[in-house]
Amino acid sequence: MSVTLVSLWTSLRRRFEAVGADNPVTDARMLIEAGAGVSRLDIVTDPYRELSTEQLAAVEALVIRRERREPIAYILGRKAFWNIELAVGPEVLIPRPETELLVETALDLLPSNAPARVLDLGVGSGAILLSVLAERQSAVGVGIDKSASALETAAANAAALHLDGRVSFREGDWTADGRFDLVLSNPPYIRSGDLAALAPELHYEPRMALDGGEDGLDAYRAITCALPGLLGPNGAFALEVGEGQADAVAEMAEVVGLTLMPHRRDLQGIARVLAGRGAG
Ligand code: GLN
Repeated sequence: MSVTLVSLWTSLRRRFEAVGADNPVTDARMLIEAGAGVSRLDIVTDPYRELSTEQLAAVEALVIRRERREPIAYILGRKAFWNIELAVGPEVLIPRPETELLVETALDLLPSNAPARVLDLGVGSGAILLSVLAERQSAVGVGIDKSASALETAAANAAALHLDGRVSFREGDWTADGRFDLVLSNPPYIRSGDLAALAPELHYEPRMALDGGEDGLDAYRAITCALPGLLGPNGAFALEVGEGQADAVAEMAEVVGLTLMPHRRDLQGIARVLAGRGAG
């Protein structure tokens, strides 16, 4: 029996439901598009179009990966975030929707069009830093990461977005040389002991980008210690935090003399971004 776009969509949706993937309808559609080289419009307007053997084989190769719970972003090699699209691979954390709150906070902290130096500690794919630079034409950025392969991906993303003239990337460990107007970070914050129980998809992601140590707060200890030396006059910072971590991180920031703003909550009501300024 011939396989049509709509019959394939239905059967893939069922296969993804059976393995407990959380977006079976969208995942099925995206893998048909990527594997068979058809558009979303083709699927909707021409649902009874038949697929060739070659198209079916190409889709199946992607489907098998998703059934093993590889994240859809790694299979497609890209992820939309804020107003940009990023290339992503297993060397970088996949940008999360809640991290857009960090970008929103960063843009509020940067007066539009004034020149500014922005630092992103643990830059990964470049999602945060490149989103901010794309919206603030007079800003320049530095991205730091411990992973050389992550830095290569971030640099490729910067070039693809024509932002490479305003950003540089260096290897480092929660600190940098120089002073900045804005320091941003979404560090690893999951407790080491919680990692094993996470959704299978997270095991494809770099452990270095998720593992926050025994209490999940290791990176915040390093970052809050470094912040006073990184902030220029009237410099600001914004950090993403995990659920239930805002108070502990706020205390670390206060101990080193930083001034805090009220934390910001994500769409689920979780205190997600902690922002503030240097001593002055
Ligand atoms: N928000 C990610 C998650 O819970 C964790 C990212 C991080 O550790 N910074 O899946």
